[in-house]
Amino acid sequence: MTAQQRIVIIGAGLSGLRTAERLRRSGHEGPLTLVGEEVHPSYDRPPLSKALLVQDETPSAPPSLRAEEKYAELGLDRRLGLRATALRPADQVVELDDGSRLGYDQLVIATGSRARRIAAWEHHDNVHTLRTFEDCLALREDLRAARHLTVVGAGVLGGEIAASGRALGLDVTLVEAMSVPLERVLGPTLGSSVADLHRSHGVDVRLGVAVERIEGDHRAERVLLADGHTIETDVVVVAIGSVAETSWLAGSGVRLADGVVCDAYGATDISRVHVVGDAAVMVHPGSPTPLRLEHWTSAGDTAAVVAHNLLADPDQRRPLTEVPYFWSDQYDVKIQGLGLPSPEDHIDVVAGEVGAHSFLALCSREGRVTAAFAMNMPAPLARCRKAVADGESLDELVERAPWAPRKVST
Ligand SMILES: Cc1cc2nc3c(=O)[nH]c(=O)nc-3n(C[C@H](O)[C@H](O)[C@H](O)COP(=O)(O)OP(=O)(O)OC[C@H]3O[C@@H](n4cnc5c(N)ncnc54)[C@H](O)[C@@H]3O)c2cc1C
Repeated sequence: MTAQQRIVIIGAGLSGLRTAERLRRSGHEGPLTLVGEEVHPSYDRPPLSKALLVQDETPSAPPSLRAEEKYAELGLDRRLGLRATALRPADQVVELDDGSRLGYDQLVIATGSRARRIAAWEHHDNVHTLRTFEDCLALREDLRAARHLTVVGAGVLGGEIAASGRALGLDVTLVEAMSVPLERVLGPTLGSSVADLHRSHGVDVRLGVAVERIEGDHRAERVLLADGHTIETDVVVVAIGSVAETSWLAGSGVRLADGVVCDAYGATDISRVHVVGDAAVMVHPGSPTPLRLEHWTSAGDTAAVVAHNLLADPDQRRPLTEVPYFWSDQYDVKIQGLGLPSPEDHIDVVAGEVGAHSFLALCSREGRVTAAFAMNMPAPLARCRKAVADGESLDELVERAPWAPRKVST
């Protein structure tokens, strides 16, 4: 790629900003444009469901990913509050909602995802989803006037919101359609440990039951479950996952399947078009098929790969090799996962105790380690990273026990 090529990044969230930073750090000196629909400078989402929900003072701005004074050194043409509405690959042009057209030599799609919603519940003012800073402010306000919170969906985000509700002193009901939280990812044994964590903090956890409908006029007053139970409530949060933000790509020819499909180098089927972050459907180490991950670290990992590949000679390109990793903070517990477990995996708790919410578990298939999952054991989990990446033999890893406290020689 010549040094003066115009690179345009659509989406100014974590993955878009990280792509821009990486490109500059790796020596791209040509024009670099970052277009973001939100008016805020790039900000961090994890605090929205944790500290920002529970802190006393109303936050005046979202948690910035980069100090404002440090933008100048990136030499970015930053266009905030503008939405890309169409991609015309034949002309190498992106259309924006102010009517302008933006030409590119290389394009990076970094438009992330948005909360999955249930249209039938949208007219209730107190039914929320949580993705943006504005969502966080609206939810904060309702939580402070509430006594009871219902969270629909016991995934990672739903669990964090339930924990924040308890921290604010609310009665909380957590409703999950699967038989345990995170069942598809963690399987029944580890999923149960997450349900127990919530119960031990006083959350009313309802598993294996769907919400049938919500009653009330402009405000939801009660949630009716498919098992016939009714929950009287003041606030509802719908945390049932997210969908990739790809609506602006309709008709562009970019292959879409749950998100933007790309190869392990982050390149789509369309020449000069690449994808990073939550929007990317990509082969991750440990997964036989492409999939879309919504992990903070994957946003940075995919950004680094695409930035490198945009500047590299064809034979110097590199695929994504980082093992998927996520964390979640709920109550006083840090939940972490490395790798891609499958519900069929064999599970061994190799350190700590599940009941104490402090343990390390290994997932394995055909005797090979596929993933590791931990509560409140960050250092032992980190020491399994290479074993997960290499798919080490379970027996050999247990023999090595890298999680065990190191003996200090005297
Ligand atoms: C509340 C919350 C808590 C989280 N907590 C954790 C956590 O604890 N641990 C963890 O591992 N992960 C967590 N995540 C996930 C993590 O934040 C995401 O994986 C990460 O933000 C993905 O970055 P992204 O840049 O791909 O997408 P986004 O952050 O969604 O950024 C995409 C940006 O593109 C913009 N955009 C969309 N369409 C257009 C368009 N057509 N034109 C212009 N701009 C557009 C959007 O407005 C947005 O600003 C959390 C997410 C949320 C919402």
